[in-house]
Amino acid sequence: MTQPLDIIKPAVRALRAYTLSPHRASVKLNQNENPWDAPAEIKEDVLRRFAARQWSRYPDFVPASLNEQLAKFAGWKADGVIVGNGSNELIQALLMVAVGPGKRVLISEPTFALYRQVATVLSGEVVSVLLTLQLTYDVDALLSIVKEQQPDVTIICSPNNPTGCVIDTADLRKLLSASRGLVVIDEAYHEFSGQSVVPLLAEHENLIVLRTFSKAMAFAALRIGYLLGAPELVVEIRKAVLPYNLNAFSQIAAEVAIEKYPALLGPTVKAIVSERERLYSELAKIRGLHALKSHANFMIVKRDTDSKQIFEELLKRDILVRDVSGYPMLAEYFRFNVGTPEENERLLSALHEIHGK
Ligand code: PMP
Repeated sequence: MTQPLDIIKPAVRALRAYTLSPHRASVKLNQNENPWDAPAEIKEDVLRRFAARQWSRYPDFVPASLNEQLAKFAGWKADGVIVGNGSNELIQALLMVAVGPGKRVLISEPTFALYRQVATVLSGEVVSVLLTLQLTYDVDALLSIVKEQQPDVTIICSPNNPTGCVIDTADLRKLLSASRGLVVIDEAYHEFSGQSVVPLLAEHENLIVLRTFSKAMAFAALRIGYLLGAPELVVEIRKAVLPYNLNAFSQIAAEVAIEKYPALLGPTVKAIVSERERLYSELAKIRGLHALKSHANFMIVKRDTDSKQIFEELLKRDILVRDVSGYPMLAEYFRFNVGTPEENERLLSALHEIHGK
């Protein structure tokens, strides 16, 4: 007899769910968030504007003014913008309109786990290329798969979560030119790398860029992401986005952030980048640890001894990092995001203690 569970697609049942450990700690370095909260000035302005708005009315059907502002902010066309309830939602919407049985999605691994998960749920075939041994993009391997198999969608996370590597612009141009399918660049962490692929949108109509307010912009709680692409593609992708996906509060917050934030944000991003570099050199002084250079606000570190144990050891010291040992190629690694200087000091001294100086 058919059991309810038999109805679920076998590929979905075989998937390991994307999960997050429920642990809490006072030094929280596990979700690549901005360690500094959004400024009070921004919060107060958002709250004031939201209080003055009628709560009985829906948000805008298409948030036209926010799209305009985002377009100007990012340097693209307003009819080529979709806002989402986090960029996660836009990864899903984009794959929903492009992926189904018989469709191929090319990714590199290790990368952000959601790409494989959503493509698999949609019955797409995931073709995966490992990063090089140096944990950088294997552009030759990607190019040859693009040429031989013409995947429907190629997804590149740059800077890559969890390794922090970026795709070189010249390499990306080669991939875009060789590809008849869509090439998606997830730029969730671009502010920390000082580079963006948005200027390539004007030259390549198969390029789609994803961005978020959750990292550098310090708005993770508000779930705001956006997608930039050719207006013809955007019209199609919108068909997979539910009406009113971005609530009125987050819409207002995004508008205020764009108006006021860039000036306030610059110093925070700079501080995170300089702390990242400081941590990288400090970690080099700890025996048994090998940090990987990163272009994002996080870093992975290889441990000569058991890497799973470090998660527990740090947690005992009230520090929460991410166990990435289940990712391909990363069995010996853990990941942490850059915290405030004080938090980073706590991490460093805990690691010194654990590794016995
Ligand atoms: N892309 C990448 C690479 C990420 O690491 C994350 C969050 N961890 C997201 C997208 C999703 O971000 P959000 O949904 O908060 O915009």
